Amino acid sequence: NNAELSTALPDAETICEQLAARLSQPVMLGSYTIKLRFSAGILRFPDVANNVEELMEGASRARRQACRYQGNYSHQLNNEMVQLIREDKWLESELRQAITKRQCFVVYQPQYDLQTGHIVSAEVLIRWRHPAYGMVPPDRFIPIAERSGQILDIDLWVLEQACICMGRLMAKGIIDFRLAVNASGTELSNPLYPEQVRSMLRRYDLPPQRFGIEITETAIVELDEVAKMMVKTLKEIGLENELDDFGTGYTSLSHLTNLQLDALKIDRSYIMQLETNPKLVDSILQLADAFSLRVVAEGVETIEQLKLLQQKRCHLAQGYLLSKPVEEEALIALLLEDIQAAQSE
Ligand code: C2E
Ligand code: MG
Ligand code: MG
Repeated sequence: NNAELSTALPDAETICEQLAARLSQPVMLGSYTIKLRFSAGILRFPDVANNVEELMEGASRARRQACRYQGNYSHQLNNEMVQLIREDKWLESELRQAITKRQCFVVYQPQYDLQTGHIVSAEVLIRWRHPAYGMVPPDRFIPIAERSGQILDIDLWVLEQACICMGRLMAKGIIDFRLAVNASGTELSNPLYPEQVRSMLRRYDLPPQRFGIEITETAIVELDEVAKMMVKTLKEIGLENELDDFGTGYTSLSHLTNLQLDALKIDRSYIMQLETNPKLVDSILQLADAFSLRVVAEGVETIEQLKLLQQKRCHLAQGYLLSKPVEEEALIALLLEDIQAAQSE
């Protein structure tokens, strides 16, 4: 009897509070004192969730959200958040045919050598234009692709586009140029990944030295020994390993040597504070120097930032000030212009 139950049972928040109070008491285990942390996700059924699947998915998301807080915490999903989960599910199924339906394409964001001012490389970034939704931001669909396992095929497709582009650049006499693709943590836990990369480069008959793999720092932190071996294998194949979004995760210093990295990309959030808080970038540059790593500054948007980075002898810069991500045709135009400028110097 619902009415009786609702009066007999305390609501979810009260249960959480009671549990948190009990669990915050230290537990004695032999001579050890153990302190527990409590996180709970709450989702109301049928008020917010429509079915059991939504209830389970939503509750586990709410719990993951609660886990991000220090100490005891419970998190309740509201209607809006559940709406977002529904949209995620829809995007996940739409994403399955996005490549075959030619809704995806890649863009290239040039990276400039801060001493010479010339373009030396570019980052390859995926774009998804859905006929009904419009442009879906990568920050929205990449996590969905990671959770659903689609990221492996997507990133391999991105690498293939990069290979095709590199072949065309070489045919136009553009040499000494590199392309870097992004890899997610999922790739690094797939033991087949380095071999897939190697065979793709062979298929297009391209030197691995022309390619870099950007691995996000948060993915590295979660890496196990197998994944570290894979980063090593990529290096042995001849690719450059770049640590993306440096400063946002918690890379231990040992990773900087163990992982055979070639470059660090300073996260945009540090470049944004460059003028007010230069010490952070200074220390990253010192650290990189000690480990003989090349440094790329991400998200350079102002001329002041650019000048400071030049003074500080940062190696490369990428950002809207220099160029937004562009399609292949525009990239080729930029490169040809840059080569001409270099020749007339
Ligand atoms: P990321 O690898 O750190 O890429 C840099 C992001 O910063 C790109 O966003 C780029 O457009 C943006 N950006 C560059 N310069 C500026 C600037 O001056 N100001 C601002 N505000 N933003 C700037 P995008 O393309 O939206 O990509 C977001 C993230 O999605 C990427 O971050 C990367 O983690 C992921 N991603 C993109 N393409 C791929 C892909 O093909 N595979 C995988 N696994 N992840 C990808
Ligand atoms: Mg990147
Ligand atoms: Mg980045």
